[in-house]
Amino acid sequence: MPDVVSLIQAKRDNTRPLTGDEIGWLFGAYAKGEVADEQMAALLMAIYFNGLDGAELRAWTGEMIASGETLDLTDLGRPSVDKHSTGGVGDKVSLILAPLVASCGAAVPQLSGRGLGHTGGTLDKLESIPGWRASLSNAELTGALKSVGAVIAAAGAGLAPADRRLYALRDVTGTVESIPLIASSIMSKKIAEGTSALVLDVKTGSGAFMKQTDKAVELARTMVALGEEHGVRTRALVTRMDTPLGRAVGNALEVEESVAALSGEGPDDLMEVTYALAEHMLALAGIDADPRAAIASGRALDTYKKMIRVQGGDPDAPLPEAEYRQEALPAPSSGWLTRLDALAVGVAAWRLGAGRARKEDNVSHTAGVRCLAKPGDYVQQGQNILELRADDPARFAPALEALGAANVFAVGSQPPPRVPLVVQEMGG
Ligand code: URA
Repeated sequence: MPDVVSLIQAKRDNTRPLTGDEIGWLFGAYAKGEVADEQMAALLMAIYFNGLDGAELRAWTGEMIASGETLDLTDLGRPSVDKHSTGGVGDKVSLILAPLVASCGAAVPQLSGRGLGHTGGTLDKLESIPGWRASLSNAELTGALKSVGAVIAAAGAGLAPADRRLYALRDVTGTVESIPLIASSIMSKKIAEGTSALVLDVKTGSGAFMKQTDKAVELARTMVALGEEHGVRTRALVTRMDTPLGRAVGNALEVEESVAALSGEGPDDLMEVTYALAEHMLALAGIDADPRAAIASGRALDTYKKMIRVQGGDPDAPLPEAEYRQEALPAPSSGWLTRLDALAVGVAAWRLGAGRARKEDNVSHTAGVRCLAKPGDYVQQGQNILELRADDPARFAPALEALGAANVFAVGSQPPPRVPLVVQEMGG
């Protein structure tokens, strides 16, 4: 029988890879309490430094999947295809994409987590809609997929429970930022969810988890390989996250912008990413449809309304609005806005109350930031770039502090060059 200390030493000293049997034993012993949290934490730190090779990662991910239930989505009468984003500022693409792709004939089973840190969670955004509930039973989930085609719901406790425990441990031991650990965490949940195909949006840039493009590309490749090895047709797009996506950052504000996008009035950058992902999802699902036509005809918006109603929400009810507003970031001169830093805006929205610092925290539905100008817009001297919104005026000072650093925005005499948001595509 393996002993955990020798496994930790092997990874710590990088003397040999762990075998599939050893990884299987480790997960079983950890579930039974025979391996302690501090021993698992030490192993995670060794993996953080020395990585996992392809066979180790396959076994590790397989054990995470096998730790819980796997949903069966083969009987929906529609091809299933999902999307996952590594998270960015103003990234409300899932809210638009799930009903859009469903309105073209696919089943989109979006099982999501909540936001932590400066990037918002999809469930937090939808919870700003009066009556909407995130938790569904497996029967409700498959029922909604059959009738509407799209569902965005909380991933149940039965899905990859080992990931839940390991993620909580990584969160408090400085071991989140490891490509094999991130890849196995994300992919174990998506594979257990039972989708046949998956498109990943791996963000790169100041507002992303993986700030450097080479790291984002490595994460994307690792996840595509894991998906393919587990029989899920997987593609990845690496997309820029240097500036907020769209103009709205914050829960109800992002729902409002998503409804505008589904009504054909989405900002260009948001639609560029949404259509790129939609085209890949439809191709993987084997559906020949034009997502632009689905928006223009109103079909995508209809599907969105049905998706919200099935989960108890009223898609036509007014969204809550923040009581306090304050404009910020006056342009120092007239010219073109050339830069607006995603991370600074994300941290400001978070401090205004849109995000949470700890898993247990509540979020404000109404707090957030509206970008009154985006890079590429012409601004007049003194014109404010942002509008901040909060339920409590005491939130403005810490948000303004996040926006006070050098280099948060820049105004120049020439418009910035237009760069495509999709940096790289991969997967078959
Ligand atoms: N999201 C996840 O689900 N897991 C990670 O490890 C990081 C981001």
